[in-house]
Amino acid sequence: RAAREADVLTRPAVTADGVAVKVMINVAEPAELDRLDPEICDGIGLVRTEFLFTGRDGLPDEETQYRAYRRILEWAEDRPVTIRTVDAGGDKPVPGLTLDGESNPFLGVRGVRLSLARPEIFRLQLRALCRAAVHGDLKIMLPMVTVPEEIATVAAMLEATVIQLGSDGFRARKPPLGIMVEVPAVAVVPELYAEAAFFSIGSNDLTQYTTASARDIAAVAALNDPGHAAVVALIRNTVARGAELGIEVSLCGDMGGDPAHWPALLRAGLRSASVAPPLVGRVKLALAGLRAGG
Ligand code: PEP
Ligand code: MG
Repeated sequence: RAAREADVLTRPAVTADGVAVKVMINVAEPAELDRLDPEICDGIGLVRTEFLFTGRDGLPDEETQYRAYRRILEWAEDRPVTIRTVDAGGDKPVPGLTLDGESNPFLGVRGVRLSLARPEIFRLQLRALCRAAVHGDLKIMLPMVTVPEEIATVAAMLEATVIQLGSDGFRARKPPLGIMVEVPAVAVVPELYAEAAFFSIGSNDLTQYTTASARDIAAVAALNDPGHAAVVALIRNTVARGAELGIEVSLCGDMGGDPAHWPALLRAGLRSASVAPPLVGRVKLALAGLRAGG
């Protein structure tokens, strides 16, 4: 009898030749978690925090953010939870925050570039995250990192934030700070970014920047292919350099939710990914039928 998604959903993913693969989930809206059993996943690989902007002008205050992050950590029990700092800009414009009139917003002030340009807003998010971190296994992830200095700048801000929270009388903890690998510059020379505590490959942006075909233009959809050998080579390089450096590597782009890409991902050495919650069963089932080959 063929295995079904329901049979594998709450079990750890393992390939036909016995290789364990971590399957985590991506979360865009915390309310999604209410209907989900944490047993289906090895944690949350990506929380997109742009939901904080919906229905309001600007980011909510520190207390509201803290409660939102805490709720996610409590859902996950002791599983790891990676929360990404605001990734506004590009395909995620935020009125009043992102810049108007950029000729190409995907190459403009987006992701961590925007956070560093608006430190008063960014600091509030870091404060809320460091306070929430005492409630679970939280990691902080930076989107759109392009140069190693961006990690160093945020690491220093994080350090100062925890000290300030302590003197303000809050319980707080400094979570590990990792990065998205979604700008090709990072995937070519990941060893320059070794200050990062972990790498998470953003195949959506990595694909659009590598193939020079926008993720939101239907007419170039055929070129925007994460299976392109160049994208796969960058993924293989990131996984290999990560292993040499002892830095954990996962993948949080949509590629990981498509079983058709898993033979290439396994060959590239990938052993961890996060996918949209409805795809967890399909991915685990596909993995059960594939050989990782050592
Ligand atoms: C990505 O770029 O692959 C990613 C996961 O981030 P987003 O889709 O939110 O840009
Ligand atoms: Mg991205």
